[in-house]
Amino acid sequence: MNNLQTQTMKHMLTPTQGNWEEEPASRHGCHTPSTSNDNSPVCIKHRCKMRPVVLRGLSSSGAAGAAGRWFCILCAREEYSVRVEEDEARNRNVEQKIREEKRCEILQLQQKIGIGKRYMKLRFEDYCPTCPGAEKALAICTRYAASFASALENGDGLLLLGNPGTGKNHLSACICSQVVQQGYTALHVTVARLLGQIMSKWSKKEEGTDQDELFKFGGADLLVLDEVGVAPLNNHQKGYLFDLINLRYENLKPTILISNFNSNELGKYLENRIYDRLCQTSFVIEFTWESHRRK
Ligand SMILES: [Zn+2]
Repeated sequence: MNNLQTQTMKHMLTPTQGNWEEEPASRHGCHTPSTSNDNSPVCIKHRCKMRPVVLRGLSSSGAAGAAGRWFCILCAREEYSVRVEEDEARNRNVEQKIREEKRCEILQLQQKIGIGKRYMKLRFEDYCPTCPGAEKALAICTRYAASFASALENGDGLLLLGNPGTGKNHLSACICSQVVQQGYTALHVTVARLLGQIMSKWSKKEEGTDQDELFKFGGADLLVLDEVGVAPLNNHQKGYLFDLINLRYENLKPTILISNFNSNELGKYLENRIYDRLCQTSFVIEFTWESHRRK
C-alpha cells in the first residue's frame, strides 16, 4: 500500500480506541477469520489482519457501525464503498421526492387557474408565418423552447409585444407545452387572474397566504404572464407584480410576458423598476405585422 492509499484509509477508518480485541466470530464484519501469530484474527478472503473498524460519516453506519465491527482493511474498503453508494441513492430519492412534491403543487395550481387543454395541444408546426418578421419570431420561439434548459440556467425570458392576432399566444403556448414535455413546470396566466388569485388570498387576511401564493407562481420553471396592459394597475397590484418578477429574477426563473403594447408603451405602463428587471433578462420580439384575424 502506498502513502496516498494509507492516508486515504486513515480518513475512512477509525479503530475503536486503537485496541485489537478478539471477539466472537458472529460479530465479525468479514469472512470467518483464522488467527495470526499475535492472536489478531485474519480475513480468509484477503489474508490480512482484522481490526475493529468504525465507518464514519455514513448514515447507514448506525449504532452497530459506531460500536465497530471487525474488518480487514480491504473488506472495510469494500464495505465503505457499498455504504457510500447506498447513502447517495437515499439522498437522490429524497431530492426526487421534494422535486415531485413541488411539481404536484404547480400542476394543481395549473388546473386551478384553468390553463386550457387547447393550449397544450398547439404545436409550432401549426403556426403559419405570413411575413419575414413572423418567420423570425417562430424561429426564436422554437429555439427558446428547444434549449429551455439553458434559459433556465441563466433566467432568460421573452417579451412578446405588439399587435393582437399575430400569434403571440400561439407561440407562447407551444413553448409552454414543450417545456412541460421536457419535464419542467410551466404556468400560463393572465395578469388579471394572477392578481385575483393573490389578492383573494390576501383579502382573507390569513397571515402569509398572499406570500405563499406568490411563491407558488414564483416557483414554476416557466411563468407566462399574459394580457399585460389590459387594465390599469393600482400601486398595490404593481407591488405584487414587482415582487413576483423580482422573485423570479433573483432565482433565475424565466418569465415570458405577453402584451399588445410596444416596448415604449409597456415601459410607461409598468413601473421602471419592473420594466428594468424584465429588460435585463428578456429577449424582445415585436409582433409588428398585421393581424391574421383581420384578413
Ligand atoms: Zn477481508
